[in-house]
Amino acid sequence: MRSRIFLKMMAAFVMVIAAATLILDFNIRHTWEDSISSDVERLLEQNTRSFALRVQNDHDHPLQQMADEEAHITEMRATIIARDGTVLADSSADYKTMENHGSRPEVKAALEGATGTNVRVSKTVGVEFLYLAVLGGDKVVRLAFPLSSIQGHIAQIRQTLMRGTALALALALLIALAVAQRVSRRLRRIVGFAEQIASGNLAARIAEHSDDEIGQVAVALDRTARRLEENFAAIREGQVQLEALLNSMKDGVIAVSPDLRVLWANQAITDIVRQPARIGAPVIELVRHPDFLSTIRTAVQLQQRQSTIATSLAGSRSFSITAEPLPDGGVVSVLHDISEIERVEKTRRDFIANVSHELRTPLTSIRGYAETLLESGEDLSGNTGEFLQVIRRNAERMGRLTEDLLVLARVESGEEKLDRRSHSVQQMISEAVQSMQKNAGSEDVEITIGEVPAGSVMADSYAVHQIFANLISNALRYAQNGKKIIIGAKEKPNGIEFSVRDFGPGIASEHLPRIFERFYRVDKARSRESGGTGLGLAIVKHIVLNHGGSVRVESAVGHGSTFFFTLTKA
Ligand code: ADP
Repeated sequence: MRSRIFLKMMAAFVMVIAAATLILDFNIRHTWEDSISSDVERLLEQNTRSFALRVQNDHDHPLQQMADEEAHITEMRATIIARDGTVLADSSADYKTMENHGSRPEVKAALEGATGTNVRVSKTVGVEFLYLAVLGGDKVVRLAFPLSSIQGHIAQIRQTLMRGTALALALALLIALAVAQRVSRRLRRIVGFAEQIASGNLAARIAEHSDDEIGQVAVALDRTARRLEENFAAIREGQVQLEALLNSMKDGVIAVSPDLRVLWANQAITDIVRQPARIGAPVIELVRHPDFLSTIRTAVQLQQRQSTIATSLAGSRSFSITAEPLPDGGVVSVLHDISEIERVEKTRRDFIANVSHELRTPLTSIRGYAETLLESGEDLSGNTGEFLQVIRRNAERMGRLTEDLLVLARVESGEEKLDRRSHSVQQMISEAVQSMQKNAGSEDVEITIGEVPAGSVMADSYAVHQIFANLISNALRYAQNGKKIIIGAKEKPNGIEFSVRDFGPGIASEHLPRIFERFYRVDKARSRESGGTGLGLAIVKHIVLNHGGSVRVESAVGHGSTFFFTLTKA
């Protein structure tokens, strides 16, 4: 099938050539016909005038003879007419039978002294003539040129012209065909090139060498394709390096599209799930773990980084999973195997719990004996009483430490089942205040309840009680000089945020980021003196984390501290 551009060009060429030849033909013919007519008219006039001269001066020959001779010489019809219109002689008809010619337009004009011309079909001979009449003395002489003779001539010329025109048209069409074919072939090469580029063959080139506009377009396109190929090669090389890097990682890396299909996965993913990743397949076919799936789903929906710990993934292994949004709406997720860390952590926790547990009995025994001795009422000589006091105090401190270590080991492991139920925020706060009021009374500190919203939270009431007990006892311990503690709560988008505020010495900003770490104390001596173990805030943090909430602190030296923790709404 011929290309559309070829057909359009051919149609345009044909129209232009046809219009040009028609206009040329029309103009040449008309100019030529006009020139013939004026030549004939001039010739006719010259002959008529010389004929008139003869008729005026020749008195020796009869008029009919003169008309015949004139007709013979000029090959025209010659007529001699009297002033009254009577025909006196005619070369083509019997003048006696001819009607009066006084009313013929050319005769009329001649009688008035002008050169009369007229074209019409002769009534006498029935042929179309160009008549021309002038006055010759007292007579009108008229020559008639038979138009049929020039018409035949004209027809012949017209035919020759037509043939020439047809030949020129055919020639022009042949040239147009060749030009259109060449242009369309060049354009088809450009189209083919574009299709190849679109189908991914960046090595395609047009290789045009002419310097017309099409050639310039082709050169520009070739340059673009070359640049594309180079950039693509650079990108591919970068990609290969990145892939090699990601494949050498021990962590699993998987990229998914917004509709949760696998875009790419590294070798580690295959090793983790023990099946090859199929590109384009739903990610659920590859990793079925619900925590993993919900993390990437949330990251896709919120377009925010998400992370979680997934246990029992790929057998009994644990993974820390992060999902980072990609610019196109998908996410890239990294699965970091933390089974070993978890195992070591568990061993450490078990060890601490076991040691704490084992220390409990001897410590109780030491404290018991020290107390028994002190309370025996015996007169303790020398420093014995003082030493016993020290033994008892330290045994109590160790007892608190082992208790706190046990609690921490329990809450850190997350193994402890939480009995989460709906509890009214107001009731929980008032219960906490009530239970701590006794301690506050003895310290001469007032605990008040601030702003508290209505509503409930999902929580284990015993665990929440532990949180409040730790925070309030800290406030009592470190902020007595403030003499006031305010417990409050506020509604937040992610739940209810509880607060314990004191007006004590506050905490310097450099300590704030580490304050929830175990054994982190701002003033070790003071903490120890006041019976602190350095574990209270760590216990608070882990209980809150186990509830899916978060902890934070706001404090400034000299302006008191406020500890916050959030719990989810019921
Ligand atoms: P400790 O048993 O030492 O109180 P915590 O974990 O409860 O251990 O607290 C860690 C440290 O944070 C404390 O040693 C103390 O320095 C500081 N701290 C805790 N609560 C307050 C508070 N309300 N005001 C000032 N400092 C505080």
